[in-house]
Amino acid sequence: MSGRDFYAILGVSRQADKEELKKAYRKLAVQYHPDRNPDNPDAAAKFREVAEAYDVLSDDQKRQIYDRFGEAGLKGRGQTINPEDIFANFMSMFGGFGGFGDIFGGGRSRQRSGQGRNQQIEITLTLNEAATGIEREIELQRDVACETCNGTGAEPGSSPEICSACRGQGQIAHNQGLFMITTTCPQCRGAGRFIRNKCTACKGTGRTAVSKKIKVKIPAGIDSGNTIRVAGAGGAGTNGGPPGDLYVVIDIAEDERFAREGDDLIHEMKISVPDAVLGRRAYIPGLFDEVRVDVPKGSQPGDILRISGEGMPRLGTRGRGDLWIRLEVEVPKKPSRHVRKLYEQLREAEEKGD
Ligand SMILES: [Zn+2]
Ligand SMILES: [Zn+2]
Repeated sequence: MSGRDFYAILGVSRQADKEELKKAYRKLAVQYHPDRNPDNPDAAAKFREVAEAYDVLSDDQKRQIYDRFGEAGLKGRGQTINPEDIFANFMSMFGGFGGFGDIFGGGRSRQRSGQGRNQQIEITLTLNEAATGIEREIELQRDVACETCNGTGAEPGSSPEICSACRGQGQIAHNQGLFMITTTCPQCRGAGRFIRNKCTACKGTGRTAVSKKIKVKIPAGIDSGNTIRVAGAGGAGTNGGPPGDLYVVIDIAEDERFAREGDDLIHEMKISVPDAVLGRRAYIPGLFDEVRVDVPKGSQPGDILRISGEGMPRLGTRGRGDLWIRLEVEVPKKPSRHVRKLYEQLREAEEKGD
């Protein structure tokens, strides 16, 4: 087995099921997340490594290849991995971005910093759009700072007031003998401020939803499940905080011509019995142009021909994958009289050993 041991990296057995993988990845990703380990290159490397391991083992197809051929089996598939994207994708699927503050144990301070919400959107591409790469205009419902109140939530001319009950702390401490118990301030519900005159345009939230068009560049070779992060294109921040990010999840529609396997394409080609016996030069629709296929004589049903460089472009690098052609021999169900005669003669000849 060549390359790294992804099971050992995640600390799971080779029989680990999806739940175990998720748990192991979540624990390690949170532990090594750059937000928790600023300026620690070891943690960043570890964060990347667990993302790579999870990316492979959580995908049935990649895991199968990995189990048989090791890491080397996955090379050349043109996969570029952004560990932050894998993590963000994971979080959005299992628990949501709302859980971010909780898992980092810093929910309150994160809220105060006012970063906008991350948003996720799925777009569907045709196989050819994925092959050429495109620029897609996406219409988004975005939170932006309310123009009327500049995001403060208070009617123009007034401003939010510090909560008198908690003096802006958002929490109230109760002295219980030896213990100090803190509870969320009931007057401001933890915000630390309250707004006497709410802005009518945003009802005091400080944000309004507007629809906004943004252009997203989708690189050639992208595959279903890949995610593109558009930094700063998510919801608006509050109190001058930075905006969130937009995650564009790619889905690729089924194609009539091809099935896709990484960077390779697979085409089922129907040929006649005489073509299989005698061989034939044929042309089939390729991804961009017609592709010439030389069916060799004596081809058997299920034989596979490989045409190199006619597959999908490799994401982030040069070159293209291969086109695999699986031959399907069509046996006539209702031959014409004439054709049936020929088959009868053919049988006679074969029985005589002509
Ligand atoms: Zn407002
Ligand atoms: Zn309060």
